[in-house]
Amino acid sequence: MSVPLNTKRCFALVDCNNFYASCERLFRPDLKQRPVVVLSNNDGCIIARCALAKQLPIPMGAPFHQVKPLLKQHRVAVFSSNYALYGDLSSRVMQTLEQLAPKVEIYSIDEAFLELSGVESCQDLTDFGQHIRQTIQQQLGLPVCVGIAPSKTLAKLANYAAKKYPQFDGVLDLTDSHKRLHILARTPVQEVWGVGRKLAERLQAMNIDTALQLARACPEQIRKKFSVVLARTVNELNGIACLALDEVQEPKQQIISSRSFGQRVKEKSAMQQAITLYISRAAEKLRAQHSLARQLSVFIRSSRFDQKARFFGDQASLVLESPSSDSRVLQQAAMQLLDRIWRDGPSYAKAGVVLNDLCSVQGLQSSLFSPPPSERSQRLMATIDQLNQKHRGSVFIARQGRDGDWQMQQRFLSPAYTTRWDQLPEVY
Ligand SMILES: [Mg+2]
Repeated sequence: MSVPLNTKRCFALVDCNNFYASCERLFRPDLKQRPVVVLSNNDGCIIARCALAKQLPIPMGAPFHQVKPLLKQHRVAVFSSNYALYGDLSSRVMQTLEQLAPKVEIYSIDEAFLELSGVESCQDLTDFGQHIRQTIQQQLGLPVCVGIAPSKTLAKLANYAAKKYPQFDGVLDLTDSHKRLHILARTPVQEVWGVGRKLAERLQAMNIDTALQLARACPEQIRKKFSVVLARTVNELNGIACLALDEVQEPKQQIISSRSFGQRVKEKSAMQQAITLYISRAAEKLRAQHSLARQLSVFIRSSRFDQKARFFGDQASLVLESPSSDSRVLQQAAMQLLDRIWRDGPSYAKAGVVLNDLCSVQGLQSSLFSPPPSERSQRLMATIDQLNQKHRGSVFIARQGRDGDWQMQQRFLSPAYTTRWDQLPEVY
């Protein structure tokens, strides 16, 4: 379908409700009437709450140990974060959206912008929004809200209102300017996309408290006092689309893979195992964006909160002879770096690897100075990535080993229902 030039732009923002908590509940119908929360890495604090949990006095970000009695009292179901499950369900949501609209920008794990320009000439936009909502519900069992508007900033705001006010039944179309003014007047300026708490404070000092007041500010004045970005937001709030759909994600300039350990690491062999796992993950991401890395760093550190021991932390870097994305090459380099910084004694709490100075595979092929990676290496890595995509962790560098005590604490981890055959949900 080609969009006539005089057609106004139209965007939808589709956002999953309480995504992590909804994913956990999906395979546990027994939890339908029970509040559900999800914990951060190492079971540190609350990072997601279902609607029922939001009614309890358990704030977002609350440390798990502090709210434990309260959780117990209200029979809250607690889960460690299960990123394999969320990642897999996220890609299924995105695939479904790609069948519903020709242009989709994946904005985060649970949000996507859709370009709907031209749709209004064949279908009512609210009906179309409901169609999106029902399709995701039927095919995946996940609740979403849909905000529709002539700019991305307004689509975000429409989504916020669709979630906040139950009378919209999860879908709000703000293409109508009357409706728009009504909602903008009721939305605090801090809820506008790109306006954080600090910026909101400065705006409030100028008597700009609501989204409507920001929409009525003079863009030129806002540009002078704040930035071009905020001036663009003013235009976007008035229905003038300044931001296009970013369908292609820019390749990252730096790739970091790092974790806090579940248990302190004292043995070098365990640290080698952890670093090997991190480098494999980073190399996989590097290959997924068709890049090569020229520079590599490794860091290790103890915890600043350990009262008994002195803090120790160190890092080392090296430049590779020629840029690479071969896990074996990067792993060997990382082991050399670890040898340089390793010290017996400290209880290590965290480690990580950083890949820097990235370049594209194509860019390198035309360069005279560095030989491109061999065909064989590229084919082998592509095969490994394919196998691991089907079954996470099926092929790995031997040093990585199977399980280490250092791995994350995940005492309440749900099964990998959708990505592991051996953990498929069973029906009795
Ligand atoms: Mg969400």
